[in-house]
Amino acid sequence: MDCIFCKIIAGEIPAKVVLRDDDVVAIEDVNPQAPTHLLVMPVRHVSNIDEMSPGTDGALMAKLIATAARLGREHGRDGYRLVINTGPDGGQTVDHTHVHVLAGRHLTWPPG
Ligand code: AMP
Ligand code: ZN
Repeated sequence: MDCIFCKIIAGEIPAKVVLRDDDVVAIEDVNPQAPTHLLVMPVRHVSNIDEMSPGTDGALMAKLIATAARLGREHGRDGYRLVINTGPDGGQTVDHTHVHVLAGRHLTWPPG
């Protein structure tokens, strides 16, 4: 499978890994949009959250969000933002589910 995040997880492409366990991996985004910009993803390839359901993937979904929130708390000053771009209109460019963690500056709203 030609998935850049699977290749990172397999160690075939270098990345700055900030956290890793059996279920989730967090890396630094190569094109950071904030002083802290991390990507939290499942170890198992799942294209996007539309491919996940609470019944079968509930624990993994919870762990992705909880891990991203913890990293946001740890790296943020006074808050942080979690983003899950999904599908072409959602701005998803890598088809391996990931939660963006943005922190370290005041983030404006609405996004582009
Ligand atoms: P999205 O557009 O929501 O699918 O987010 C994909 C993110 O992956 C973008 O913020 C990219 O900067 C980031 N990205 C793409 N390739 C790499 C890579 N090799 N290492 C780290 N981050 C990457
Ligand atoms: Zn993948």
